[in-house]
Amino acid sequence: SKVNLTELITNIMDGFEPLFLSDGKILLDDLAKDVFVYGDSDRLNQVLVNILSNALKYTDEGDSVEVVLREKKKTAEIIIKDNGIGIEKKDIPYVFERFYRSDLSRNRSTGGKGIGLTITRSLVEAHQGTIEVESESGKGTTMTIILPLYTAPE
Ligand code: ATP
Ligand code: MG
Repeated sequence: SKVNLTELITNIMDGFEPLFLSDGKILLDDLAKDVFVYGDSDRLNQVLVNILSNALKYTDEGDSVEVVLREKKKTAEIIIKDNGIGIEKKDIPYVFERFYRSDLSRNRSTGGKGIGLTITRSLVEAHQGTIEVESESGKGTTMTIILPLYTAPE
């Protein structure tokens, strides 16, 4: 069905805000109004929750995370950018693989199974979308999700 991504992201961020605050982290948003896609809101919710959970887990006190939503041509573009621990170059090709966790993330007290991004990518692809990662060790990580915009049936 028709999903208002702006509202969906706003609600998820409202849920995450206290977690960021209590860790001394900053959560920012820049969301275009009324961006609609076609899909399953529970699954799209899961996509955002997974990415924001990573952003929370792989940043330190004083770090920030920004979520941008905008329309670009016929697509909705969601960018989640953090300035956390980043991902080493050698690990980047594998982060969407099942059970893969980088050494940097293993060394942290917060655990994980290494399946969040595997699920995330299949959910995005089930919506005819793409997800890409850009990252630099020690600098931060940017996840970009592109989904087709909702178009009214003829
Ligand atoms: P799970 O999500 O299953 O609890 P996880 O967070 O370790 O565990 P994924 O979400 O699949 O697993 O992410 C895979 C790996 O990619 C992580 O272990 C981490 O090494 C790296 N990663 C993902 N997001 C980030 C990020 N924002 N910053 C740094 N590293 C990241
Ligand atoms: Mg995860």
